[in-house]
Amino acid sequence: MSELTRLTALEQAHAVASGQVSAVELAQAHLDRIEAVEGSVRAFLHVDADGALAAAQTVDQRRAAGEPLAPLAGVPLAMKDVVVTKGLPTTAGSRILEGWRPPYDATISRRIKAAGIVMLGKTNMDEFAMGSSTENSAYFPTHNPWDLARVPGGSSGGSSAAVAAFEAPLAIGTDTGGSIRQPAAVTGIVGHKPTYGAVSRYGLIAFSSSLDQAGPFGRTVMDAALLHEAMAGHDHCDSTSIDHPVAPVVLAARDGARGDLSGVRVGVVRELSGDGYQSGVLAAFEASVEALRGMGATIVEVSCPHFEYALAAYYLIAPSECSSNLARFDSVRYGLRIGDDGERSLEEVMSLTRAAGFGPEVKRRIIIGTYALSSGYYEAYYGQAQKVRTLIARDFAAAFTQTDVLVSPTSPFVAFGIGERVDDPMAMYLNDLCTLPASLAGTPAISVPCGLSEGLPVGLQVMAPALADDRCYRVAAAFEASYVATHGAILDQAPTLAKVAR
Ligand code: GLN
Repeated sequence: MSELTRLTALEQAHAVASGQVSAVELAQAHLDRIEAVEGSVRAFLHVDADGALAAAQTVDQRRAAGEPLAPLAGVPLAMKDVVVTKGLPTTAGSRILEGWRPPYDATISRRIKAAGIVMLGKTNMDEFAMGSSTENSAYFPTHNPWDLARVPGGSSGGSSAAVAAFEAPLAIGTDTGGSIRQPAAVTGIVGHKPTYGAVSRYGLIAFSSSLDQAGPFGRTVMDAALLHEAMAGHDHCDSTSIDHPVAPVVLAARDGARGDLSGVRVGVVRELSGDGYQSGVLAAFEASVEALRGMGATIVEVSCPHFEYALAAYYLIAPSECSSNLARFDSVRYGLRIGDDGERSLEEVMSLTRAAGFGPEVKRRIIIGTYALSSGYYEAYYGQAQKVRTLIARDFAAAFTQTDVLVSPTSPFVAFGIGERVDDPMAMYLNDLCTLPASLAGTPAISVPCGLSEGLPVGLQVMAPALADDRCYRVAAAFEASYVATHGAILDQAPTLAKVAR
């Protein structure tokens, strides 16, 4: 493997800016790595080698002309396929969008291009971001670089696997109920779900609009922070975008890396542990809390009694919103059209197209959501779930009166085997136990690697109040510094990463 792909995004950016390496060489090194490992990892649905090299060349030309470069100029990135990219295939992991090439860029696609970040391609995902393993992709499963027989988490599993396998130093994911944090945790990388509205949703193919949020993946907290700043900020194209200055996350990551947390009050959420959590996960979590204490943080136990209803509320709200959002895939406007023989009615063509174009998990959710929203049931299901959501937000508000951040494991489990849970939706939904509260409250949360259980990575989740994303980064960076000082970088402990390079 080229040494270039081993560098952090920050180091790669410095290497390009100082002229030690050209952006084209850097892009080529990653394309070579992709070529070498994709046969076994399968993180990408589409690799855009020509586009990446052309974008890299533009960065090199700008540098040669003495023009100023943005902080991540020339650094490669993998983009989740739920984010629309002008002229490039965008499927959201679904057959119903096979062959669609969007006529426009999502705001975040536009921003990363403008920042000189080099997009390598589009990553695999659970269909329409519904899932926790990437096995719901209509195309193929992605493999966890730590153990190719295991899942890379989901729904942003292509993005997490690409970063963990050194195919890209950075990736973008989306998180509706945990789909950035859980895949980050089970592949040993960093992933952050920003405050709802802090990063534009314009051009994200909608799953559950009141929850969907794009965010960064990196191998270090600083790399994630740099990408966060490159993509965040108000967007007039998204009516739910927050018109507020971007939290100073890069500064916070730098500050946190000094390893001093004195004065920081860390709340351990009582409800996010115990039965159903793997013992190795809990052991790694407890050791992490001690490490935070060792850096001067004050540890308090807090209770958030309504968190236990998060799973039930989420699995009404998300399907309800998806049943409405996915109505647009009607065989007329996008992608697939089945049975249009001039004889069949529009309704028949729609029905045949949707039957063939959506996979089983998507159909399950459309049916549940349509039922929950139907007249007579709306108040009992959707209305009740929205009330639970308010109670969860109040639990956060109460907890933050006595703490600065809350911590928990990111997922109750380490990466599980491909095929192990795919036929049991309830077992799959339990992956989201720890990540759902912050999704429902719209608050920010990060996952940072915190140790191993059974030789597989475990994530520490750090949650903060809305708009205080910088606190997540500060605490995560402090934790990362102490972890790396004691154990070395977690990906250096991965047994098969080197081997996936043939
Ligand atoms: N696993 C959750 C689900 O299946 C979360 C998905 C997500 O965050 N996109 O809905």
